[in-house]
Amino acid sequence: MTESQQHTGSYYAASRNQLTEYPQLQGDQTADVCVVGAGFTGVSTALHLEERGYKVSLVEANRVGWGASGRNGGQMIGGLSGESAIAKALGAEGEKALWDMRWAGHKIIRDRVATYNIDCDLKTGYLDVAIKPRHIKDLHEELEMLEKYQFPHEFRMLSREETQDTTGTKAYIGAMLNMGNGHLHPLNLCAGEAAAAASLGATIYEQSPVLRIERGSKAKVVTEQGAVTADFVVLAGNAYHFLEPKLRGIMFPVNSFIIASEPLSPELVNQINPRDLAICDPNYILEYFRLSADKRLLFGRRFTYFGSDPEVIKRNLIPHVLKKYPQLATTKFDFGWGGTIGVPINRVPQMGRLAPNIIYSQGYSGHGVNVTHLAGQIMADTVAGTLERFDIFAGIKPLTIPGQHLFRNQMVALGMIYYKLIDRL
Ligand SMILES: Cc1cc2nc3c(=O)[nH]c(=O)nc-3n(C[C@H](O)[C@H](O)[C@H](O)COP(=O)(O)OP(=O)(O)OC[C@H]3O[C@@H](n4cnc5c(N)ncnc54)[C@H](O)[C@@H]3O)c2cc1C
Repeated sequence: MTESQQHTGSYYAASRNQLTEYPQLQGDQTADVCVVGAGFTGVSTALHLEERGYKVSLVEANRVGWGASGRNGGQMIGGLSGESAIAKALGAEGEKALWDMRWAGHKIIRDRVATYNIDCDLKTGYLDVAIKPRHIKDLHEELEMLEKYQFPHEFRMLSREETQDTTGTKAYIGAMLNMGNGHLHPLNLCAGEAAAAASLGATIYEQSPVLRIERGSKAKVVTEQGAVTADFVVLAGNAYHFLEPKLRGIMFPVNSFIIASEPLSPELVNQINPRDLAICDPNYILEYFRLSADKRLLFGRRFTYFGSDPEVIKRNLIPHVLKKYPQLATTKFDFGWGGTIGVPINRVPQMGRLAPNIIYSQGYSGHGVNVTHLAGQIMADTVAGTLERFDIFAGIKPLTIPGQHLFRNQMVALGMIYYKLIDRL
């Protein structure tokens, strides 16, 4: 794929603060660091590097936030996917380091929203809901860790009754409230961070698919009409990456879809989410939902579909909403869209090097809002020569999926079947 696209027809694109209009890359340019891909990973990396005084070019095939970063559920959830594998790699003495990494992205987001005055509807409050008794056990384990490390925000288990009052549905048997997590408008956050990077001197190019990278002591990032020659290149294309087949072959692309209702009446809001929390269930084929700033229900779920027709997406998701909330039977759903998530087999986010001066970060599964922000910092640290956290991820060998880049749709389907099976266990 090399043809540039505009934003998908999401609620976020329809309610964004401003249309980003950065120029196409043209002619021969130079930079200290060239970042490819302007989702959270790329934008976050660019902003960290600009804050450290590097001259950065950020080259995006489509629009800033066009990929998963501008389409996601907006749930700011602590933790990393693949934590058990990371814990094993780090050993007992690494437990605290891992714990700190779980929340590092939140702090970066909060600091940036405050420092750069980013208007992205950032709210606190998250409910991890339980469907089965074993989920309650998992929540208790999480609670013990929060207690052990004296988590500085309110957290507590909710009884079945309190969960049902807080979610307006009998679908869940308990929950853990965590006021350290939250939710936000992801496209406005991504665009706001890009604007912050540009204000510090970053040069951003949109509608500029990178076609190849010429390797050498300086690397040359080439698009149809121009090129950036840089000391360092950071690849941040994640599941939308169409440049280096090697990077696509180590992740499953998993599609997830979201529908947005019309704004709900205060009565309905009070019934289904009176505390304005982000809510997420623990299944692999999970359901995640929350209210937007203008009180729409944003409801997300995966299903096997490769298109982007909003009517198909609504038809598939609305029955799942009505199962929980029959009172929304006459509610209109205004938007339906989807996006692709990069899911490594062992679920551990992937960071590595393709050449001494070309590094990448990808594969955060459903935890990207938080972890991309940490990843950006790690990429910037790596460029600056402070490598410790990069080495943690780079040391965990990714499992390769044979032929993945040749059979994208089949691989998406296979991924869905695999994770559905896990949910049944
Ligand atoms: C529907 C959905 C719901 C989700 N919900 C949540 C959630 O609630 N909470 C959460 O934490 N995570 C969630 N996620 C995951 C999260 O959105 C991602 O992990 C995160 O946004 C990944 O960010 P990224 O910058 O690495 O990739 P992306 O945002 O996908 O950005 C990659 C960018 O690279 C560009 N690119 C690729 N190749 C090239 C090239 N050759 N040249 C130039 N540019 C290129 C693409 O155009 C794209 O803009 C969700 C994802 C989806 C799809």
